[in-house]
Amino acid sequence: MTPIDLRSDTVTRPTAAMREAMARAEVGDDVYGEDPTVNLLQQEVAALLGKEAALFVPSGTMANQVSLGVLTRPGDEIVCDAGAHCISFESGALAALWGVQARTIAADRGLLDPVEVEAAIRPAGDVFPRTRAVALENTHNRGGGAVYPLERIRALGELARRRGLHLHLDGARLWNACAATGIAPAEYAREATTVSVCLSKGLGAPAGSLVAGSRDLVAEARRLRKRLGGGMRQAGVLAAAGLHALRNHRGRLAEDHANARRLADGLTELGGLLPFPVETNLVFVAFTGRSAADLSARLASEGVLANPEGSRPELLRLVTHLDVSRAQVDDALARIARVLRAA
Ligand SMILES: *Cc1c(COP(=O)(O)O)cnc(C)c1O
Repeated sequence: MTPIDLRSDTVTRPTAAMREAMARAEVGDDVYGEDPTVNLLQQEVAALLGKEAALFVPSGTMANQVSLGVLTRPGDEIVCDAGAHCISFESGALAALWGVQARTIAADRGLLDPVEVEAAIRPAGDVFPRTRAVALENTHNRGGGAVYPLERIRALGELARRRGLHLHLDGARLWNACAATGIAPAEYAREATTVSVCLSKGLGAPAGSLVAGSRDLVAEARRLRKRLGGGMRQAGVLAAAGLHALRNHRGRLAEDHANARRLADGLTELGGLLPFPVETNLVFVAFTGRSAADLSARLASEGVLANPEGSRPELLRLVTHLDVSRAQVDDALARIARVLRAA
Protein backbone atom coordinates (compact mmCIF):
# COMPACT_ATOMS: atom_id res chain seq x y z
CA MET A 1 0.00 0.00 0.00
CA THR A 2 1.56 3.30 -1.08
CA PRO A 3 1.39 5.81 1.78
CA ILE A 4 -0.47 9.04 1.13
CA ASP A 5 1.68 11.67 2.77
CA LEU A 6 -0.39 14.54 4.17
CA ARG A 7 2.11 15.57 6.86
CA SER A 8 3.33 18.69 5.10
CA ASP A 9 3.69 20.43 1.76
CA THR A 10 7.46 20.09 2.29
CA VAL A 11 7.46 16.36 1.46
CA THR A 12 7.19 16.81 -2.32
CA ARG A 13 9.92 15.43 -4.59
CA PRO A 14 11.23 17.43 -7.54
CA THR A 15 9.39 16.56 -10.77
CA ALA A 16 11.22 15.18 -13.82
CA ALA A 17 10.99 18.59 -15.53
CA MET A 18 12.37 20.28 -12.43
CA ARG A 19 15.29 17.86 -12.24
CA GLU A 20 16.00 18.56 -15.90
CA ALA A 21 16.05 22.31 -15.23
CA MET A 22 18.45 21.66 -12.34
CA ALA A 23 20.74 19.55 -14.52
CA ARG A 24 20.87 22.26 -17.19
CA ALA A 25 21.42 25.18 -14.78
CA GLU A 26 24.25 27.59 -15.49
CA VAL A 27 26.16 28.06 -12.25
CA GLY A 28 28.96 30.06 -10.63
CA ASP A 29 30.15 30.89 -7.13
CA ASP A 30 27.27 32.73 -5.48
CA VAL A 31 29.38 33.98 -2.57
CA TYR A 32 31.15 36.02 -5.29
CA GLY A 33 27.71 36.95 -6.68
CA GLU A 34 28.62 35.01 -9.84
CA ASP A 35 25.87 32.43 -10.10
CA PRO A 36 23.70 33.58 -13.02
CA THR A 37 20.78 31.33 -12.10
CA VAL A 38 20.71 32.56 -8.49
CA ASN A 39 20.91 36.14 -9.76
CA LEU A 40 18.00 35.54 -12.14
CA LEU A 41 15.90 33.95 -9.38
CA GLN A 42 16.63 36.88 -7.08
CA GLN A 43 15.59 39.36 -9.81
CA GLU A 44 12.39 37.48 -10.60
CA VAL A 45 11.34 37.21 -6.97
CA ALA A 46 12.18 40.87 -6.25
CA ALA A 47 10.02 41.86 -9.23
CA LEU A 48 7.14 39.59 -8.17
CA LEU A 49 7.21 41.11 -4.69
CA GLY A 50 7.64 44.67 -5.92
CA LYS A 51 10.92 45.13 -4.02
CA GLU A 52 14.32 46.46 -5.12
CA ALA A 53 16.23 43.29 -4.36
CA ALA A 54 16.01 39.74 -3.07
CA LEU A 55 18.42 37.20 -1.60
CA PHE A 56 18.41 33.42 -1.98
CA VAL A 57 18.82 31.56 1.32
CA PRO A 58 18.69 27.83 2.17
CA SER A 59 15.49 27.80 4.26
CA GLY A 60 12.45 29.73 5.38
CA THR A 61 13.84 29.83 8.88
CA MET A 62 16.97 31.56 7.67
CA ALA A 63 14.86 33.94 5.56
CA ASN A 64 12.83 34.98 8.59
CA GLN A 65 15.79 35.25 10.93
CA VAL A 66 18.01 37.16 8.54
CA SER A 67 15.08 39.57 7.98
CA LEU A 68 14.45 40.07 11.69
CA GLY A 69 18.20 40.32 12.26
CA VAL A 70 18.55 43.27 9.90
CA LEU A 71 15.54 45.06 11.37
CA THR A 72 16.47 44.85 15.07
CA ARG A 73 19.18 45.43 17.68
CA PRO A 74 19.75 43.43 20.89
CA GLY A 75 17.18 44.38 23.53
CA ASP A 76 14.54 45.22 20.93
CA GLU A 77 11.09 43.69 20.87
CA ILE A 78 8.95 42.54 17.99
CA VAL A 79 5.17 42.21 18.09
CA CYS A 80 3.71 39.06 16.59
CA ASP A 81 0.94 36.58 17.20
CA ALA A 82 1.47 33.84 19.78
CA GLY A 83 1.61 31.05 17.18
CA ALA A 84 3.97 32.83 14.77
CA HIS A 85 6.44 30.51 13.06
CA CYS A 86 9.36 32.90 13.69
CA ILE A 87 9.03 32.43 17.47
CA SER A 88 7.40 28.98 17.66
CA PHE A 89 9.27 26.75 15.20
CA GLU A 90 12.70 28.31 14.70
CA SER A 91 14.57 26.83 17.65
CA GLY A 92 14.61 30.02 19.70
CA ALA A 93 16.60 31.82 16.98
CA LEU A 94 15.19 35.29 17.65
CA ALA A 95 16.55 35.26 21.20
CA ALA A 96 19.64 33.17 20.55
CA LEU A 97 20.88 35.00 17.44
CA TRP A 98 19.73 38.58 17.83
CA GLY A 99 18.99 39.06 21.56
CA VAL A 100 15.48 40.12 20.64
CA GLN A 101 12.29 39.30 22.52
CA ALA A 102 8.73 38.94 21.28
CA ARG A 103 5.56 40.48 22.62
CA THR A 104 2.85 38.11 21.53
CA ILE A 105 -0.85 38.58 20.85
CA ALA A 106 -3.29 35.65 20.92
CA ALA A 107 -4.82 36.60 17.59
CA ASP A 108 -7.81 34.88 16.00
CA ARG A 109 -6.40 32.43 13.41
CA GLY A 110 -3.07 34.20 13.90
CA LEU A 111 -4.24 37.31 12.02
CA LEU A 112 -3.14 40.44 13.88
CA ASP A 113 -5.60 43.20 14.68
CA PRO A 114 -4.10 46.70 14.30
CA VAL A 115 -5.82 47.95 17.47
CA GLU A 116 -4.27 45.13 19.52
CA VAL A 117 -0.89 45.65 17.88
CA GLU A 118 -0.98 49.35 18.70
CA ALA A 119 -1.78 48.54 22.34
CA ALA A 120 1.26 46.23 22.44
CA ILE A 121 3.73 48.91 21.32
CA ARG A 122 5.90 49.95 24.25
CA PRO A 123 6.04 53.57 25.34
CA ALA A 124 9.38 55.41 25.07
CA GLY A 125 11.50 55.28 28.20
CA ASP A 126 14.68 53.84 29.65
CA VAL A 127 12.99 50.88 31.31
CA PHE A 128 11.19 49.56 28.24
CA PRO A 129 12.35 47.33 25.42
CA ARG A 130 12.19 49.17 22.12
CA THR A 131 9.36 47.93 19.89
CA ARG A 132 11.02 47.71 16.50
CA ALA A 133 8.96 45.57 14.19
CA VAL A 134 5.67 43.82 13.65
CA ALA A 135 5.88 40.33 12.17
CA LEU A 136 2.93 38.83 10.35
CA GLU A 137 2.41 35.54 8.53
CA ASN A 138 0.39 35.08 5.32
CA THR A 139 -0.97 32.46 5.03
CA HIS A 140 -0.88 31.65 8.72
CA ASN A 141 0.41 28.17 9.50
CA ARG A 142 -0.94 27.75 13.04
CA GLY A 143 -4.07 29.60 11.95
CA GLY A 144 -4.94 26.70 9.63
CA GLY A 145 -3.70 28.36 6.45
CA ALA A 146 -5.65 31.57 7.10
CA VAL A 147 -5.33 34.31 4.48
CA TYR A 148 -4.88 37.92 5.60
CA PRO A 149 -7.51 40.29 4.27
CA LEU A 150 -5.56 42.86 2.24
CA GLU A 151 -7.23 45.77 4.10
CA ARG A 152 -5.90 44.34 7.36
CA ILE A 153 -2.34 44.31 6.04
CA ARG A 154 -2.81 47.86 4.78
CA ALA A 155 -4.04 48.95 8.21
CA LEU A 156 -1.04 47.26 9.85
CA GLY A 157 1.24 49.00 7.34
CA GLU A 158 -0.35 52.37 8.10
CA LEU A 159 0.11 51.73 11.83
CA ALA A 160 3.74 50.67 11.38
CA ARG A 161 4.50 53.84 9.37
CA ARG A 162 2.75 56.10 11.86
CA ARG A 163 4.60 54.54 14.80
CA GLY A 164 7.98 54.21 13.08
CA LEU A 165 8.03 50.40 13.07
CA HIS A 166 9.15 47.91 10.47
CA LEU A 167 6.79 45.29 9.11
CA HIS A 168 8.10 41.81 8.35
CA LEU A 169 5.93 39.52 6.25
CA ASP A 170 6.58 35.80 6.65
CA GLY A 171 5.30 34.66 3.28
CA ALA A 172 6.39 31.02 3.41
CA ARG A 173 2.95 30.32 1.90
CA LEU A 174 2.31 33.72 0.33
CA TRP A 175 1.83 31.96 -3.02
CA ASN A 176 -1.10 30.07 -1.51
CA ALA A 177 -2.67 33.33 -0.33
CA CYS A 178 -2.32 34.71 -3.86
CA ALA A 179 -3.80 31.58 -5.42
CA ALA A 180 -6.76 31.73 -3.02
CA THR A 181 -7.62 35.39 -3.62
CA GLY A 182 -6.15 36.34 -6.99
CA ILE A 183 -4.30 39.20 -5.28
CA ALA A 184 -0.76 39.75 -6.62
CA PRO A 185 2.23 38.99 -4.36
CA ALA A 186 3.41 42.62 -4.65
CA GLU A 187 0.06 43.83 -3.29
CA TYR A 188 0.43 41.74 -0.14
CA ALA A 189 4.09 42.77 0.14
CA ARG A 190 3.62 46.50 -0.45
CA GLU A 191 3.50 47.51 3.23
CA ALA A 192 6.32 45.20 4.30
CA THR A 193 9.91 46.31 4.92
CA THR A 194 11.08 42.71 4.50
CA VAL A 195 9.34 39.70 2.99
CA SER A 196 10.35 36.05 3.18
CA VAL A 197 9.00 33.48 0.72
CA CYS A 198 9.58 29.72 0.40
CA LEU A 199 10.11 27.66 -2.74
CA SER A 200 10.06 24.34 -0.88
CA LYS A 201 6.48 24.31 0.41
CA GLY A 202 3.58 24.37 -2.03
CA LEU A 203 5.82 25.17 -4.98
CA GLY A 204 7.60 21.84 -4.66
CA ALA A 205 11.28 22.82 -4.94
CA PRO A 206 13.70 20.71 -2.89
CA ALA A 207 15.09 23.69 -0.92
CA GLY A 208 15.34 27.45 -0.89
CA SER A 209 13.70 30.63 0.27
CA LEU A 210 14.19 34.32 -0.43
CA VAL A 211 14.28 37.55 1.52
CA ALA A 212 13.14 40.67 -0.33
CA GLY A 213 13.39 44.34 0.54
CA SER A 214 15.31 47.50 -0.27
CA ARG A 215 18.77 47.20 -1.84
CA ASP A 216 20.43 48.34 1.40
CA LEU A 217 18.53 45.91 3.61
CA VAL A 218 19.20 43.01 1.26
CA ALA A 219 22.92 43.87 1.26
CA GLU A 220 22.86 43.66 5.06
CA ALA A 221 20.83 40.43 4.88
CA ARG A 222 23.56 39.01 2.64
CA ARG A 223 26.10 39.71 5.36
CA LEU A 224 23.96 37.98 8.00
CA ARG A 225 23.39 35.03 5.66
CA LYS A 226 27.16 34.57 5.43
CA ARG A 227 27.52 34.87 9.18
CA LEU A 228 24.98 32.08 9.66
CA GLY A 229 26.77 29.86 7.18
CA GLY A 230 24.12 30.24 4.50
CA GLY A 231 26.43 31.47 1.75
CA MET A 232 26.24 28.68 -0.84
CA ARG A 233 28.53 28.26 -3.83
CA GLN A 234 27.09 26.74 -7.05
CA ALA A 235 23.59 27.25 -5.68
CA GLY A 236 22.22 27.75 -9.20
CA VAL A 237 21.32 24.06 -9.23
CA LEU A 238 18.82 24.81 -6.45
CA ALA A 239 17.84 28.19 -7.84
CA ALA A 240 16.94 26.49 -11.14
CA ALA A 241 14.49 24.28 -9.26
CA GLY A 242 13.05 27.41 -7.64
CA LEU A 243 12.69 29.24 -10.96
CA HIS A 244 10.99 26.22 -12.47
CA ALA A 245 8.65 26.03 -9.47
CA LEU A 246 7.79 29.74 -9.61
CA ARG A 247 7.07 29.64 -13.33
CA ASN A 248 5.22 26.32 -13.45
CA HIS A 249 3.76 25.48 -10.06
CA ARG A 250 2.14 28.69 -8.80
CA GLY A 251 -0.79 28.30 -11.14
CA ARG A 252 -1.64 24.84 -9.87
CA LEU A 253 -1.91 25.73 -6.16
CA ALA A 254 -5.66 26.15 -6.68
CA GLU A 255 -5.78 22.36 -7.19
CA ASP A 256 -4.26 21.84 -3.73
CA HIS A 257 -6.87 24.18 -2.29
CA ALA A 258 -9.72 22.32 -4.01
CA ASN A 259 -8.27 19.03 -2.74
CA ALA A 260 -8.06 20.46 0.78
CA ARG A 261 -11.72 21.49 0.65
CA ARG A 262 -12.69 18.03 -0.64
CA LEU A 263 -10.70 16.46 2.18
CA ALA A 264 -12.34 18.79 4.72
CA ASP A 265 -15.84 17.93 3.44
CA GLY A 266 -15.06 14.21 3.63
CA LEU A 267 -13.66 14.53 7.16
CA THR A 268 -16.77 16.43 8.25
CA GLU A 269 -18.95 13.60 6.87
CA LEU A 270 -16.88 11.20 8.97
CA GLY A 271 -17.70 13.19 12.11
CA GLY A 272 -14.59 15.34 12.15
CA LEU A 273 -14.80 18.82 13.63
CA LEU A 274 -12.99 21.58 11.76
CA PRO A 275 -11.96 24.46 14.01
CA PHE A 276 -11.29 26.73 11.05
CA PRO A 277 -12.69 27.19 7.56
CA VAL A 278 -10.35 25.72 4.94
CA GLU A 279 -9.07 28.62 2.83
CA THR A 280 -5.90 27.14 1.38
CA ASN A 281 -4.02 23.82 1.62
CA LEU A 282 -4.05 23.17 5.38
CA VAL A 283 -6.82 21.17 7.03
CA PHE A 284 -7.10 21.00 10.82
CA VAL A 285 -9.51 18.42 12.20
CA ALA A 286 -10.46 16.94 15.57
CA PHE A 287 -12.39 13.75 16.31
CA THR A 288 -14.08 14.00 19.70
CA GLY A 289 -12.51 11.78 22.34
CA ARG A 290 -9.61 10.67 20.13
CA SER A 291 -6.08 11.83 20.71
CA ALA A 292 -4.35 13.08 17.60
CA ALA A 293 -1.17 11.15 18.50
CA ASP A 294 -3.07 7.86 18.70
CA LEU A 295 -5.06 8.56 15.55
CA SER A 296 -1.90 9.57 13.71
CA ALA A 297 -0.29 6.21 14.57
CA ARG A 298 -3.38 4.24 13.50
CA LEU A 299 -3.66 6.20 10.26
CA ALA A 300 -0.02 5.52 9.49
CA SER A 301 -0.65 1.78 9.67
CA GLU A 302 -3.40 2.27 7.04
CA GLY A 303 -1.05 4.30 4.86
CA VAL A 304 -2.23 7.83 5.65
CA LEU A 305 0.47 10.07 7.10
CA ALA A 306 -0.77 13.05 9.13
CA ASN A 307 0.76 14.74 12.17
CA PRO A 308 -0.80 16.02 15.37
CA GLU A 309 -1.07 19.79 14.98
CA GLY A 310 0.29 20.35 18.47
CA SER A 311 -1.79 23.22 19.84
CA ARG A 312 -4.35 20.87 21.44
CA PRO A 313 -4.43 17.10 22.01
CA GLU A 314 -7.21 16.19 19.55
CA LEU A 315 -6.10 18.31 16.65
CA LEU A 316 -4.64 16.68 13.52
CA ARG A 317 -3.14 18.61 10.62
CA LEU A 318 -3.45 17.40 7.03
CA VAL A 319 -1.79 19.20 4.15
CA THR A 320 -2.43 18.90 0.42
CA HIS A 321 0.37 19.45 -2.08
CA LEU A 322 1.87 18.75 -5.48
CA ASP A 323 2.34 15.03 -4.80
CA VAL A 324 -1.25 14.36 -3.68
CA SER A 325 -3.85 13.92 -6.42
CA ARG A 326 -7.60 14.24 -6.10
CA ALA A 327 -7.86 10.44 -6.39
CA GLN A 328 -5.42 10.07 -3.49
CA VAL A 329 -7.53 12.45 -1.40
CA ASP A 330 -10.53 10.15 -1.99
CA ASP A 331 -8.38 7.13 -1.22
CA ALA A 332 -7.12 8.79 1.99
CA LEU A 333 -10.71 9.46 3.06
CA ALA A 334 -11.62 5.79 2.52
CA ARG A 335 -8.61 4.72 4.60
CA ILE A 336 -9.45 7.22 7.35
CA ALA A 337 -13.05 5.91 7.42
CA ARG A 338 -11.68 2.36 7.93
CA VAL A 339 -9.48 3.49 10.82
CA LEU A 340 -12.37 5.33 12.50
CA ARG A 341 -14.68 2.30 12.16
CA ALA A 342 -12.03 -0.08 13.53
CA ALA A 343 -11.50 1.54 16.91
C1 LIG B 1 7.77 26.32 6.92
C2 LIG B 1 7.65 27.72 7.39
C3 LIG B 1 8.78 28.51 7.60
C4 LIG B 1 10.21 27.97 7.59
O1 LIG B 1 10.59 27.24 6.55
P1 LIG B 1 11.79 26.16 6.63
O2 LIG B 1 12.21 26.15 5.22
O3 LIG B 1 11.14 24.90 7.10
O4 LIG B 1 12.84 26.65 7.54
C5 LIG B 1 8.59 29.82 7.98
N1 LIG B 1 7.36 30.32 8.14
C6 LIG B 1 6.24 29.59 7.95
C7 LIG B 1 4.92 30.23 8.14
C8 LIG B 1 6.36 28.26 7.58
O5 LIG B 1 5.24 27.53 7.42
